[in-house]
Amino acid sequence: MLKNKVMWQDALFIGTIVFFMLSLINIALGLLGFVCALTPFYLAYRYKEKLWCKKYCPRASLFSKLLKRISFGLKPPTGLYSDKTKRFILNFFCINLVMISYSTLAVAALKAPPMDYVRFLMLFKMPFDLPQLVQITLPPAVIHLSYRVFSIMFTSTVFGLILGIMYRPRSWCAICPVNTLTGVLIERNMQKNNVS
Ligand code: SF4
Repeated sequence: MLKNKVMWQDALFIGTIVFFMLSLINIALGLLGFVCALTPFYLAYRYKEKLWCKKYCPRASLFSKLLKRISFGLKPPTGLYSDKTKRFILNFFCINLVMISYSTLAVAALKAPPMDYVRFLMLFKMPFDLPQLVQITLPPAVIHLSYRVFSIMFTSTVFGLILGIMYRPRSWCAICPVNTLTGVLIERNMQKNNVS
């Protein structure tokens, strides 16, 4: 039983690969990225611990699996895991979310064209197109939102891979905004429970 559980968790990294492959089939499937974005908060709220990060995150599983043998294991620079860095990444992530929401609304209101391409770090257009093996006619706002969600997943995965290769496989986890925010959510919940 325990062995099965370990094997199942070992295979979670496939989820990340499947996510990127599905987005090559049709970008609307990139909206599945919301599962990775929202489930950690549901689990943290419900169980008052970082269950997603501890057991289920397919991205962390990919980092561990792929990088454990090739990570250089260098000493990280001072400040990489500091509160300041975490805050910076969190702010960047929040600004990204606000911009995605705003731009999606603008596209839905026909005030802006959809951005149907991948961007890295919110700003840099990548020099490739996703193949889109199955063509479906979608509302422009859905296309826009799907590419934006894909871009966040792409950026954080590439960034996590770079950090993982240089330092430890799961270096990204120390500054990942999901980790920071679920920590705040759990702490607030506990404080609320202690007061009531
Ligand atoms: S910190 Fe981020 S990347 Fe790491 S396990 Fe949690 S959600 Fe996944």
